[in-house]
Amino acid sequence: MGSYDHVIILGGGMAGLRIAEKLAKSGIPTTLYEGKRDVSYLADRASGVLSISGVKRLNIDYSSALENVLKGAVIYSKSQNMKVVSEKPQAYVLDRKLLIKKAYNNAKEAGANIILGKRIKEDEIKDFDDGKTVIVGADGPISSVAAAFGFPPIKEVLLTYKAVYDNVNCLENHMVRLFFDNEISKGLFGWLIPYSKEKVEVGLGLSEKVKGNSKQAFDKFVKNEGVASIVNAGKVSSEYASIIPIGARDKTVKGNVLLIGDAAGQTKATTGGGLIFGLSCADAAFQAVLDTFTKGKPLSEYERNWRKLYNFDLSLHKGLHRYYSNLSNNSIDRDIYLMKKLGFDSFFSKHGDMDSIKMMIKRLFIRKAG
Ligand SMILES: Cc1cc2nc3c(=O)[nH]c(=O)nc-3n(C[C@H](O)[C@H](O)[C@H](O)COP(=O)(O)OP(=O)(O)OC[C@H]3O[C@@H](n4cnc5c(N)ncnc54)[C@H](O)[C@@H]3O)c2cc1C
Repeated sequence: MGSYDHVIILGGGMAGLRIAEKLAKSGIPTTLYEGKRDVSYLADRASGVLSISGVKRLNIDYSSALENVLKGAVIYSKSQNMKVVSEKPQAYVLDRKLLIKKAYNNAKEAGANIILGKRIKEDEIKDFDDGKTVIVGADGPISSVAAAFGFPPIKEVLLTYKAVYDNVNCLENHMVRLFFDNEISKGLFGWLIPYSKEKVEVGLGLSEKVKGNSKQAFDKFVKNEGVASIVNAGKVSSEYASIIPIGARDKTVKGNVLLIGDAAGQTKATTGGGLIFGLSCADAAFQAVLDTFTKGKPLSEYERNWRKLYNFDLSLHKGLHRYYSNLSNNSIDRDIYLMKKLGFDSFFSKHGDMDSIKMMIKRLFIRKAG
């Protein structure tokens, strides 16, 4: 082993549990501190839509959490809509509570020492910094690790609000519906995710830079005809506000301290989805820590490797997000109209990729060249 003998992880979300499991399996002494007494306590604040390709590539243990399978999306603007539907299933809708419970059990079984109900305060974190410990900040967007060690800030935050409705009548229950309306949800969109024909989730995100809050925006959004017609007869069983960081921090390693997942801002700015990229980066962090322990390589390899693999794609998501966030509703209508005219709906149906814009551009050029 190199000069380190222990890894401390702060935060038992999906990213922290993933790296804890992998480190423990490799025989590296690992302790994870989670502020809540139950790792699933905060899980319902987020949705659970994950690309099937990403789930398979990352070998995510999802089967006990499967709620529904999605074949495509209907994208709505004020007066246009575009349907993108694939022959094969594209995404899973997962129960986030069950998903994280499984991740917790897997990390425990691998031998990680997990201490629940212990929130480490910002001024206590430096006590771990004894020269022999690698510190991993997996403590979400308002990361105390990032604050304690003076990491650069998260660039932008989206405010979200979501509610689950039971006893609804959602006939097309294998399609997610996305509603773009920059007068209500500037910075993201509204969504309706079917869990089944009888149960759906409705939510929205908007930029923190916009006036008002996510609950006020949500109350306007549920009056949208496409949403109201499905949920009006239903009953809300849970509702939560939360936040999504978008735009990675400019630095994610400092000496013996690494940031992963939402703490690093490794989310797709276009959708706010954080699991596929966050867990991919957790894997890059695991490899860097393993190489430090076994080969004495510097931890800065983490920053180099994750940026090499994912930074271009995350930047494309950021660029596209910036573009549509600044459009008027009329311009969104125009763009959807044009996309349909140019055949983008059938292109997305065949070659769409929920995670990688880079991959979609490649497929577009291959198609043009072919
Ligand atoms: C409304 C909404 C919908 C979303 N939908 C999707 C989706 O469909 N698909 C998708 O892929 N992603 C989605 N995301 C994003 C995704 O949920 C996050 O990217 C992901 O949960 C980040 O995981 P994480 O482990 O990095 O951080 P978190 O899940 O935030 O976990 C951080 C953990 O650290 C703990 N913690 C914090 N501070 C301390 C401390 N000082 N000491 C100890 N513990 C601490 C917290 O209690 C928490 O358990 C959504 C997010 C939101 C808000």
